[in-house]
Amino acid sequence: MRDKDPEVFDREHIWHPYTSMTNPLPCYQVESASGVTLKLSDGTELIDGMSSWWCTIHGYNHPVLNEAAKKQLDSMSHVMFGGLTHSPAIELAKLLVEITPEPLQKVFYSDSGSVAVEVAMKMALQYQFCKGNKMKNKFLTIRSGYHGDTFNAMSVCDPVTGMHDIFSGVLPENYFADAPQCKSDDEWDDSDIQSFKSILEEKDQNICAVILEPIVQGAGGMRFYAPEYLRQVRALCDKHHVLLIFDEIATGFGRTGKLFACEHACVSPDIMCLGKAITGGYMSFAATMATDKIAEVLSSGTPGVFMHGPTFMGNPLACAVAVASIKLLLSSQWQGKVKAIEKQMNSELAPCRAMDNVEDVRVMGAIGVVELKEAVDMASIQKRFVEEGVWIRPFGNNVYIMPPYIITKGELAKLTSAIITVVSELEY
Ligand code: PMP
Repeated sequence: MRDKDPEVFDREHIWHPYTSMTNPLPCYQVESASGVTLKLSDGTELIDGMSSWWCTIHGYNHPVLNEAAKKQLDSMSHVMFGGLTHSPAIELAKLLVEITPEPLQKVFYSDSGSVAVEVAMKMALQYQFCKGNKMKNKFLTIRSGYHGDTFNAMSVCDPVTGMHDIFSGVLPENYFADAPQCKSDDEWDDSDIQSFKSILEEKDQNICAVILEPIVQGAGGMRFYAPEYLRQVRALCDKHHVLLIFDEIATGFGRTGKLFACEHACVSPDIMCLGKAITGGYMSFAATMATDKIAEVLSSGTPGVFMHGPTFMGNPLACAVAVASIKLLLSSQWQGKVKAIEKQMNSELAPCRAMDNVEDVRVMGAIGVVELKEAVDMASIQKRFVEEGVWIRPFGNNVYIMPPYIITKGELAKLTSAIITVVSELEY
């Protein structure tokens, strides 16, 4: 076994995300990554349009983040968080409290986005139980959403496009309102909120919290919707005494043009999930933020503590890199960069609108989407993008890019022209 070719070994023994173990799609071996370039083991260089699933906002191998990791490594890479604390965790919480909407004052650290969502849902349930609302044990969400791969997170992913329909019989049953149809620049149409409103009116006795991705729905369909929808959601949650959870795991840290997507609507949630770009894509880490009120209710009822505490909670190495990444972002004129990426993608992806196989082209912040009329064939399209010298990994009908914010005009042009070339080849 020791002598096996590494790529053969990988294919035969290592599971990759959403991939068959017996008939896997080809995998490309990365040797190193720097700036926005991935270098494969055969020497091929690819411009990265994915930010490694939307995390590496500063690019790879960044000297400031490397330095922060090395410095922390020499001090301590990990220490348990039960009964102990440390300055990277404190510094990070200070930053998070400062930059997120004002009511969010309490921070719970965890290891991944899905766990941050589990924590948020558990907090909301415990809050309602502590208030004596035992019947309020269901969640309301909107279709086309995606919140992660663990069980409660799966239960609020879109039942069809959310990748987990096979588990529908065993997942907790929650309520799904129609996905918003009003796009950001459309005139607001009140009928858009009707489905959400009627479920809340009919079922509020059973609903503990609403959970959704604000303004941009990511892995459930790469959809953008109107800020007014979010404002109406906030008002309805208040009216019906239901908590509001924003999953900003994909949208947080500047991706949509605002530091957090909820700022487009000027509304704040009761609980907010952060992940992905929080460490600039250096390691898996996440945070769930909550208001003082939630913390007070959880701490005053029985059992008087929040019943959660992962082994790697508050990992110092991840906290130190997150602090460095957030400071780097805040001092980087990121708004101008994201605006420039948005403008360039808008003009360079526009020709796709004229293609017969294209359903829609949409851009928001540093997110560019070409939605096709049919789902792509992953193996062949992936190969074509690699041949074009770019790393773009579509899913379903969506060919999209979310590049690191440090991308240059020339590098971005390479991504957009690869999309034009490859999508035009798919025309039928
Ligand atoms: N929520 C959203 C909005 C996401 O996009 C994702 C990941 N794509 C998650 C939750 C889950 O995060 P993780 O993969 O880190 O568990």
